[in-house]
Amino acid sequence: MTVLSPADSAITDQLISRLRDIVGAENTLTQDADTVAYTTDWTQQHAGAAIAVVRPANTDEVSAIVRLCAASEVAIVPQGGRTGLCGGGVPIAGQPSVILSLTRMNAIRSLDSEGRTVVAEAGVVLETLHERALEHGLIFPLMFGAKGSCTIGGNLSTNAGGSNVVRYGNTRELCLGIEAVLPDGSVINALTGLRKDNTGYDLKDLLIGAEGTLGIITAAVFKLFPDPAARATAFLSVTSMDAAIGILNTIQDRTGGAVEAFEYMPRQTVDAILNAFPDMRPPLQEPAETGILLEVASSRPADAQVMEDGSVRFQNDLMDILAELIEEGFVLDAMLARSEQQRRDLWRMRESTLEAITGFGPSYHLDISLPLANISAFIEEIDTAARELGFLPLTVGHLGDGNLHYALAAAEGSVWEELPLEKIGTIAYDALIRLNGSFSAEHGIGQSKLQVMKKLKEPAQISAMRAIKKALDPLDIMNPGKLLPPEI
Ligand SMILES: Cc1cc2nc3c(=O)[nH]c(=O)nc-3n(C[C@H](O)[C@H](O)[C@H](O)COP(=O)(O)OP(=O)(O)OC[C@H]3O[C@@H](n4cnc5c(N)ncnc54)[C@H](O)[C@@H]3O)c2cc1C
Repeated sequence: MTVLSPADSAITDQLISRLRDIVGAENTLTQDADTVAYTTDWTQQHAGAAIAVVRPANTDEVSAIVRLCAASEVAIVPQGGRTGLCGGGVPIAGQPSVILSLTRMNAIRSLDSEGRTVVAEAGVVLETLHERALEHGLIFPLMFGAKGSCTIGGNLSTNAGGSNVVRYGNTRELCLGIEAVLPDGSVINALTGLRKDNTGYDLKDLLIGAEGTLGIITAAVFKLFPDPAARATAFLSVTSMDAAIGILNTIQDRTGGAVEAFEYMPRQTVDAILNAFPDMRPPLQEPAETGILLEVASSRPADAQVMEDGSVRFQNDLMDILAELIEEGFVLDAMLARSEQQRRDLWRMRESTLEAITGFGPSYHLDISLPLANISAFIEEIDTAARELGFLPLTVGHLGDGNLHYALAAAEGSVWEELPLEKIGTIAYDALIRLNGSFSAEHGIGQSKLQVMKKLKEPAQISAMRAIKKALDPLDIMNPGKLLPPEI
């Protein structure tokens, strides 16, 4: 792969001119003022240089760009909505690259409301897909705070998770097929939407979660689901994390597996959000040490029945379950959203977490998963160690699927620059491995987790991944320096 220097300006000029031939001058950005937004990632931790930002309109143009870059051995960085949190969507330092932005490929090619599938291009913004599905009485259940900016190409490439994984799975489980451009420019079209297709290696599953290192996803077929007729959303104060897991199981059993979200929101995190957004109201009068945002949903019309007193049957059923859990001493207090506005307020609070934490000052973030049975041991151990070292834990989590976003800020009286980040990182990752967890649950590896990948991922698995990368991308042009740690 070519690492271009200023002396190579003749090569870059020629490349840029040919890129213009493919996508047009207006879609080939080269001036710093135009490219700067594309070269820095959401976290502001990673920035790289772009030879050009190109914005193709269709798969043929993507293929032509990839062929051109392969012939010139120039690196390509695929990019969606730039909301990734690991620096995967921007070039690495010292490696000027062609940034291939998929945002113009934003068509929903077809929606089959009977077959409950949709074919969408990579640049479709997640929220747009939500809206289009709803027009047909269906939902696309992938849900998280960045929904207004992230794209489905980025969601697939990071195998994004979010709040509803407990019921519907990660992006991988929602995808039935993809169209993609491989590093040699060839196009694979697997958009049949078949639910059964055992015809060899599943290339779709290889490209999902590959963070753009094996090719560029240009479109995908997704499953859609019925829009729930009734929802019940509540904020609970529960006695302990161990109790929370039992509560999840009880509610799953009693509702026939209707839990759509089970989000861990401890007191410090809720306090930080309420401080950052003074217009938000605390969900409970007495703050919950262990708070849970719970949502259950049903597509059975009978559950949506409005009772004589104006209440909704499904919400009353949840209240009955919660009343029993209060009587049994597992739940201390609960607030049920009785209006769509109250539900939205609860979700706004949850989805503002990252913004509130980043507004708090510098912070250290772990995106980890653990077996449900080991979550309370992890939190107890690391919260204690972190507090002793002068940190303030600001955790939030998709508890229903064992995923914690464990963040640490400076506690009152601590100076961030003096805090032992490396030490707390080692303590946390040691505990994580001992408790059978994963060091990246849903954000991926990108650039920011290469060291931990090298240290903690089984060597045999890294070797197999390298072999796949070399077979598909022998020139290492496809998003180099991401996901796989350097060999030396
Ligand atoms: C406020 C906030 C909340 C978040 N919450 C969650 C959450 O709950 N769960 C979760 O999983 N993530 C979460 N994220 C992370 C992020 O939103 C997801 O990783 C998202 O899927 C990235 O999509 P994107 O379009 O922004 O991708 P980008 O950031 O542009 O790219 C991400 C990676 O995918 C690659 N890529 C992008 N498009 C393509 C393509 N078409 N083909 C091949 N490779 C491609 C890029 O090269 C890069 O490696 C959150 C982020 C923010 C800012």
